[in-house]
Amino acid sequence: MLDTASLIEFLAQPKKIVITTHHKPDGDAMGSSLGVYNYLVQQNHNVKVITPTDYPQFLSWMPGNDHVIVYTDHKETSNELIANAEVIFCLDFNALSRINEMGEFVAKSKAVKILIDHHLEPENFDDYRLWDTHACATAQLVYKFIVDILKNKNLVNKDVATCLYTGIMTDSASFCLPNTTSEVHRITADLIDAGAVNWLIYDLVYDNTTESRLRFLGLCLHSRLEVLYEYNTAIIAVDKQDIHTFGIMTGDTEGIVNYGLSIAGIRLAAFIVERDDKVKLSLRSKGTFPANDICKKYFNGGGHLNAAGGTSTGSLEQVIEQFKLVLPEYKKLLIN
Ligand code: 5GP
Ligand code: MN
Repeated sequence: MLDTASLIEFLAQPKKIVITTHHKPDGDAMGSSLGVYNYLVQQNHNVKVITPTDYPQFLSWMPGNDHVIVYTDHKETSNELIANAEVIFCLDFNALSRINEMGEFVAKSKAVKILIDHHLEPENFDDYRLWDTHACATAQLVYKFIVDILKNKNLVNKDVATCLYTGIMTDSASFCLPNTTSEVHRITADLIDAGAVNWLIYDLVYDNTTESRLRFLGLCLHSRLEVLYEYNTAIIAVDKQDIHTFGIMTGDTEGIVNYGLSIAGIRLAAFIVERDDKVKLSLRSKGTFPANDICKKYFNGGGHLNAAGGTSTGSLEQVIEQFKLVLPEYKKLLIN
């Protein structure tokens, strides 16, 4: 592991830097990555952001977005950049499986690997780590990295602030989750002072939907929602045909799972979607209910206490059935 003083010295000269984040990047993944990008370019580093997969349209407006390379579209260039990088920032993930095929190239690269993350149980592939599971977003830790560790608050310009604000807003469910501490609000205030336009960012992320996505949401709420009151659990399950009918794209299903939790008394909400090669499960929970426990034990996944995900190779019907069969084990936690 590299100590902070050595890291600061190392970054004092322009370096070849790759920034990456988890596949199917969300607001925090993109906000953190482009936040670090906009910080580093001010110091004349040669910086590339490489995402393992594409990401939704409503995250494609952030400053620096034009410079993002999507790995699946540019594998050779990306592998070369990773192999020649002197520094690789690994943001908002801590297991190499979260970056798909890229994982093996990142593991092989001789670059100094800097991990900034808030997920549980990190693997050991990094050389410097800023890791805190209490952080509401990786973007919060990126702010800490720039301001408290690198002592460069003056470089938190409008672009950096805009990206980090987006990460914090999206991962804290618009400042609603229990980990939205007073410190988070102080950081957010600093970001607004630095130029982040809070109302505009909200508009660009959340009021940027399409008619078909809104109608798809209608379908989910009207016809695909099942509420199991005996377990305080709500399930929304959609099949490939639903996805096809409404032309649903990467990221379009983001946030739908939360509607289940908005029913009074509901502690656990599941969104189950049939994809081409697998069934993906997203869980959200309230209070101390461990959504990540279910994903880890039964659905090859993991995540946070209140937001977790996993996958299965079974059919949609089998996954719904399996999920329901798991609930009795958690009944006490769900009804007390
Ligand atoms: P989402 O439901 O939005 O896909 O994921 C919620 C959270 O669960 C993510 O922030 C991530 O931490 C975690 N997560 C989702 N899918 C997986 C997975 O397949 N494996 C692991 N380990 N974590 C996941
Ligand atoms: Mn995150």
